[in-house]
Amino acid sequence: MKAAIYPGSFDPVTYGHLDIIRRASEIFDELTVSVLNNKTKTPLFSVEERVKMLKEATSDLPNVTIDSFSGLLIDYAAKKNINVAIRGLRAITDFEYELQIAQTNRKFSDGKLDTVFLTTSLEYAYLSSSTVKEIASFNGDISECVPDFVGRMIYEKYR
Ligand code: ADP
Repeated sequence: MKAAIYPGSFDPVTYGHLDIIRRASEIFDELTVSVLNNKTKTPLFSVEERVKMLKEATSDLPNVTIDSFSGLLIDYAAKKNINVAIRGLRAITDFEYELQIAQTNRKFSDGKLDTVFLTTSLEYAYLSSSTVKEIASFNGDISECVPDFVGRMIYEKYR
């Protein structure tokens, strides 16, 4: 059985993330989507809120589990006995950063943790959690970026 982890901030989850989650869940037998509790970032949503949103947004995918972690991805993956990480690539600008992380993870896990990249579907290539938050903060329309219930939670934060 082949399992993978899709780690990220997901602050909040967008249709871009959900597209990667659905496609990865078709390639792997089990997919764990895990919210990184990153102390160096100031998120809009708490880890608990992000986990809850992801659970609701992926409730139709039976082989997808939602979790959270802090610390190094290689340690978390080793504990779960999973050796594949999924990352999405939107544009060439993502590539340099992602390449460095993937190589670091492979090196420091002694080759145990490899990264599989899925390229973004063209209709979501422009999407990022930060853009969605910025548009919402000015009361713009984010209905094409995130599921409705996520949109409501974002507007709630900016009220
Ligand atoms: P990070 O984990 O880098 O803080 P995110 O939670 O936004 O940021 O992203 C998690 C993963 O999802 C990354 O691999 C990122 O490249 C990917 N991703 C983000 N937005 C999209 C999108 N619109 N389409 C495809 N992949 C995306």
